[in-house]
Amino acid sequence: MSIKNISLTPAVFHLPERVNAIAPEYAQNPIVPRGPRLAPVLDRVQNKIRSALDCEETHDPVMLTCSGSGAIAAGLGSCVLSRDASRAPRILVVSNGAYGERQARYAQQMGLSTTHYALEYGKRPDLDEIERLAQKDDVDAIGLVHGATSTCSLNPMLEIGELARKLGKTFLVDGIASLFVEEINLEEAGVDIMIGSTNKGLHSNPDLAFVLVSKPLLERVCEETGRIPYLDIGEAWKAQRNGGHPYTINIRALLEVEAALDSLEEEGGVAGRISIYQARNQLLREGYRDMGLQLFEHPGMPLQNIGTALYLPEGTQYARLADELAEWNDGSGECYEIYSAQGRLADQVFRIFNMGNYEIETYGRFLQALKSCLKT
Ligand SMILES: *Cc1c(COP(=O)(O)O)cnc(C)c1O
Repeated sequence: MSIKNISLTPAVFHLPERVNAIAPEYAQNPIVPRGPRLAPVLDRVQNKIRSALDCEETHDPVMLTCSGSGAIAAGLGSCVLSRDASRAPRILVVSNGAYGERQARYAQQMGLSTTHYALEYGKRPDLDEIERLAQKDDVDAIGLVHGATSTCSLNPMLEIGELARKLGKTFLVDGIASLFVEEINLEEAGVDIMIGSTNKGLHSNPDLAFVLVSKPLLERVCEETGRIPYLDIGEAWKAQRNGGHPYTINIRALLEVEAALDSLEEEGGVAGRISIYQARNQLLREGYRDMGLQLFEHPGMPLQNIGTALYLPEGTQYARLADELAEWNDGSGECYEIYSAQGRLADQVFRIFNMGNYEIETYGRFLQALKSCLKT
């Protein structure tokens, strides 16, 4: 019997049966991604995204062919507009983890005037400092990562959104690790540009990503040329609102996304998925505490639903622990893939995610395996 590799990572994991059923069926009946055959598929996917995220009236999802980072680049390059046409757009990026650093680097690389408020990983940003920096540099936009995957914590999106609104700044949020798995109301949070991908909380494959743009901003974006060819939100939306796409788009991937959205709906929508993730976390975090593991936490930064960052216990080598879990073979038919920390935390912290299509019992068995590996 082959051993099932349980992914405790946020990248690629087992997906719902409905999603897996698409590829073999599609292979028998491929669809040319043009005109009358593309339009209804695209339309259904976009409507189901709007409906799952409850933003029908306020935001439109622009679909892109790329992983999540491509959508970050597209959002920064197309939707952060300058109030003064004679200068580049200006953005303040708030960062306290690897993806905030990536956002700042992308903004800079594509020629946005970038103010980088860089904090220690996992540390809560200070609202007064955000306000001070935004005003000092007279920025057009504020950028944030909501679910901060490198530290498994949540940034104060509501508070920063309220501040952005008060200051009249466009608010861009990387929600790749929080959409579909955290409670988010885009309008209430004052988000103008929300970046998402299909392979994380949505449980589909990593072929597509999307940017949700508030309707009035999207109208303005359509009048501009994006800074990155191909990843140009205005160009894409002008085609998509008429049921097309400017380039080849993967219809199999779109159908998988639709199946993933149907699966989500069956689970009770975002609220249903959150309760599944929370049940896993309750079990897992209690187990970690029982084992004497210390959670990586900072004041004012709630833990993310998708996973937990833990300090490596004294004397434990991450690589050895990961190898042992990957080679786990106790007759249960499961082995486990965990995740190291990113960037600056790599030697102190490791991460265990609870995403994907697994039964709760799997996490109980994993805790036994972890306990045993930590003992040796
Ligand atoms: C996974 C992730 C990304 C994007 O990563 P890709 O590898 O490009 O899909 C961006 N931001 C956050 C917060 C993430 O968790």
